Amino acid sequence: MDSLISQAAKIIRNSKYTTAFTGAGISVESGIPPFRGKDGLWSQYNPQILDIDYFVGNPASSWKVIKTIFYDFWDNAEPNNAHLFLAELEKNGRIQSVITQNIDNLHYKAGSKNVREFHGTLKTGMCMDCGYKFEMSSEILKKFPLKCIDCGGIVKPDFVFFGEGIPEDVQWLSLDDIKKAEALIIIGTSGEVMPACQLPFIAKENGAKIIEINTEKSVFTDEITDIFLQGKAGEICDKLLRELLRK
Ligand code: NAD
Ligand code: ZN
Repeated sequence: MDSLISQAAKIIRNSKYTTAFTGAGISVESGIPPFRGKDGLWSQYNPQILDIDYFVGNPASSWKVIKTIFYDFWDNAEPNNAHLFLAELEKNGRIQSVITQNIDNLHYKAGSKNVREFHGTLKTGMCMDCGYKFEMSSEILKKFPLKCIDCGGIVKPDFVFFGEGIPEDVQWLSLDDIKKAEALIIIGTSGEVMPACQLPFIAKENGAKIIEINTEKSVFTDEITDIFLQGKAGEICDKLLRELLRK
């Protein structure tokens, strides 16, 4: 493992443009469960609740689960060492941006600035009828369960549901990063969600070296990963940071 860590650090040191691509696994050590894997949410819930057509037809039952699986965890979640590592690297000019599939706002909370929220955010919501914007939290949901305080319309959280498109501005910014990247650090994603999972393949085609951190192999590992660092994101990132700080 030590030799893999030093090879990964060398790639990051030599790269003039480095991007990170993160998924639910980076936030597991912050107490937010992922979708897939053995303790993943889909072992308890039906993914249909995050389908846009289902949400519009059954907002009450969809909202009940959304509050339980996201907002109740999220209210108390703090960034862990992996989020802090990426923020530190950005501050030092070692990485240029983070593309995240996560909606938990933890990269911003850790201090990262150039964050592309590919699937939107839990932080805000919008009335589907009048466009009124809400700052979301578990508390707000207790007071105004899913109904707009202005017009009574359905409030939808600003994350991308299954069946919805990716916001265009974020898509373009992400693609730009991916094409420029000389190194891509993939952390905690199974790589099963389209179209996000295409980004690392595009990076590889454009010549990026791929460093991957995950507790398990993903769809990327045997296909495009150059250095696979197997383990928990927070622990591996600590080792990598120590190596990068060595003179
Ligand atoms: P996923 O649930 O499909 O996969 C999680 C991945 O993380 C797996 O490959 C797993 O092996 C790995 N993992 C688990 N614990 C880890 C740890 N401690 N360190 C490193 N890796 C670990 O997640 P995904 O690929 O991001 O796709 C799911 C979609 O779910 C995303 O689009 C995202 O929007 C959404 N989601 C977001 C959150 C969040 O915002 N925190 C949580 C759940 C789901
Ligand atoms: Zn409204």
